Amino acid sequence: MESRHGTDPAPDGAAAREVRQRLEEERRARASQLAVLEQAIERAPLEQVEESDHTRRENLRRSLAEIDEALRRLEDGVYGRCEGCREAIPAGRLEILPYVRYCVRCQGRANRALR
Ligand SMILES: [Zn+2]
Repeated sequence: MESRHGTDPAPDGAAAREVRQRLEEERRARASQLAVLEQAIERAPLEQVEESDHTRRENLRRSLAEIDEALRRLEDGVYGRCEGCREAIPAGRLEILPYVRYCVRCQGRANRALR
């Protein structure tokens, strides 16, 4: 594994605690949204369940999985590094999307690959 001095984006100490706190808050929020949605889907007559509800449920599940991944990366000390190119993800991007896995460039590539 290559490592370059001064460019390691992984937060430690207080910064890591702050990131973890944010991720856990996001996790709680998503988990309760998901619980509410799942109850609604369960209770609604089948023909009234909208396609968009399923999409939302999938999105929430995916977000939760990504938050768990981000927490794991934080534990492993590789948080904030793009999974595609291994470059540091800009702090501003992490600020908006604390559990993002890719830099903007690799995200675009990953999105295209998904379609
Ligand atoms: Zn990248």
